[in-house]
Amino acid sequence: MSNYNWCHGPNCHTNYTQSRIRGSGDNKVLRTIKIKHDSNYRSHERYSMFNYFCNNSCLFDYLRLHLQAIVAIAPRREALETPIKVQKEKYKSHRYEWNNNDQHERVPYMATRTTINSVDND
Ligand SMILES: [Zn+2]
Repeated sequence: MSNYNWCHGPNCHTNYTQSRIRGSGDNKVLRTIKIKHDSNYRSHERYSMFNYFCNNSCLFDYLRLHLQAIVAIAPRREALETPIKVQKEKYKSHRYEWNNNDQHERVPYMATRTTINSVDND
């Protein structure tokens, strides 16, 4: 197994950066970024996307180009659901309104707070 990946961004080699320049004399090219393992922080996260992409731009170029193939790997045909408990409680609050004297006036009202709680499935 090699200790590096080439950036998978389809346009990586078209970015005008000094880090991509290879070759000598009049035979210079812009080359895809080589992502070495062990030599940068990214490799500490074995499944990090940045083991395969040199930056977000290359990652999203790849996603745009291969999106249909990627979602075909694990298509979502039904919505997923998470059981929750919804708690609604009234509480005293206030807002400011313009009164007839063209002044800001503090007006009390009863507000509703909605809290979403998890359900214990144990
Ligand atoms: Zn790249």
